[in-house]
Amino acid sequence: MRFDADFTMTIAGEGVSSERDLEVLNPATRKAVGRAPRASRQQLDRAVAAARAAFPSWRARPLSERQGLVIRLGQRLAENVDALKRLLTAEQGKPHPDAEKEVRGAARWCQAIAAQQIPETVNEESEVRLSRTRHVPLGVVAAISPWNFPLLLSVWKVSAALCTGNTVVLKPSPFTPLTCLKMGELARDILPAGVLNVVSGDDELGPWLTSHPGVNKIAFTGSTATGRRVMETAAKDLKRITLELGGNDASIVLADVDAKAIAPKLFWSAFGNSGQLCVAAKRVYVHVEAYDAVRDALVEYARTVKVGDGAEQGTQLGPVQNAMQYQRVVGLIEDAKANGLKFALGGDVDRDSPGYFVPVTIIDNPPDDSRVVTEEPFGPVLPLLKFNGVDEVVRRANDTIYGLAGAVWSRDVAAAERIALRLETGTVWINEARSLSPKAPFAGHKQSGFGVENGLQGLLEYTIPQTITIARGS
Ligand code: NAD
Repeated sequence: MRFDADFTMTIAGEGVSSERDLEVLNPATRKAVGRAPRASRQQLDRAVAAARAAFPSWRARPLSERQGLVIRLGQRLAENVDALKRLLTAEQGKPHPDAEKEVRGAARWCQAIAAQQIPETVNEESEVRLSRTRHVPLGVVAAISPWNFPLLLSVWKVSAALCTGNTVVLKPSPFTPLTCLKMGELARDILPAGVLNVVSGDDELGPWLTSHPGVNKIAFTGSTATGRRVMETAAKDLKRITLELGGNDASIVLADVDAKAIAPKLFWSAFGNSGQLCVAAKRVYVHVEAYDAVRDALVEYARTVKVGDGAEQGTQLGPVQNAMQYQRVVGLIEDAKANGLKFALGGDVDRDSPGYFVPVTIIDNPPDDSRVVTEEPFGPVLPLLKFNGVDEVVRRANDTIYGLAGAVWSRDVAAAERIALRLETGTVWINEARSLSPKAPFAGHKQSGFGVENGLQGLLEYTIPQTITIARGS
């Protein structure tokens, strides 16, 4: 299938356009990729009403049937990988191979989430009573996703919500709505009308959706600042929430590493998707004895990486996704310069370039209180920091409001694991990074999140327990 430029929302199983629309730009060229509908309040009301209307019969379907349809949705994504990957690159900026991985990842997630069973437990089975607990769906789920992995992070929510018997209104980011709109279109002849609605719009749409009385749960991925607002809104009628938020992940490199061997892995852990990854390494602490070797190997490897338009053959890193984020990342580089920080690589932004390109930038041992260390850059800028001792580095790594993920690199796996156990984060990798699994719970500690995605716990977040007791012998 080739996609044309006609993008419609999916409401009650129908393609819906709107009076007003949004222009979606290619971040590599700043040229229009397409126009997405801008939902009116009435259209959002219709989407929520359609999801409510579809809920009773969807929840009543056997679990295996719902799972089968989610698997079918995943297959449909995989069948359209070529067109979807091109569209994703055009709107998001990531290179074609990475866009393909995202589409295939979304398809894989559908299969894996649909393979999970929802447990039922027996609490008591005696002469007096039988008590058991099952997990029932919540109702209408508002799924809200960011612009860095628009399709995959939407599918995390959609697959789990649908398998557990909820219906969904998905709202992708206004910067990257197109791939999700196409997913809605591809799902129209798979899912019953109203089970998956996809709406697009600008800044007012998210608050309309999260405050909507017809929504029972909000599954949100985005920044910590927005997550706080979502939580406040949800408090008004006690909507259930899952929040996956920002991070400032620390990577700890012990003295015994082989600098050259780990340099490529360390590089991609920080700069993959141009650093626009919630679980990117955003502060790399290297033991003082290995510091110079690791810095030099990282810089040497970084020089080989091709930054450019993601649609061009050979590109390994694309642009930053949007103007706001570009200004933010460039602002951090300027702040580093103004404060006299040392650049091991990069720092010279070509403002005349056609897209939002930022060169790979590595900052050499900045102070702990510099902005590039304390803030989440969410772009290709990385501080490398020296440390001396384990207690010291654990304290510095944990000294943040965030707690998403972290990594430890060492030939001594036991020593690395001892450090891992002391990190206040939801995920810790040893000698790898960025691997996430539909089977493993993914949870942000501290202000990196609230609740869990993936794994059985993630699945159960789309349900609520119901205990049924039957008196016996009366
Ligand atoms: P964002 O918070 O600006 O937007 C996320 C989504 O929320 C978008 O769809 C946006 O339109 C919507 N939104 C904005 N204001 C809203 C409101 N008041 N009510 C409801 N919805 C609203 O985040 P972003 O800039 O798109 O994404 C980058 C951030 O996301 C980074 O901080 C990154 O770390 C985080 N992130 C976290 C994870 C994770 O799993 N923890 C994954 C990816 C990205």
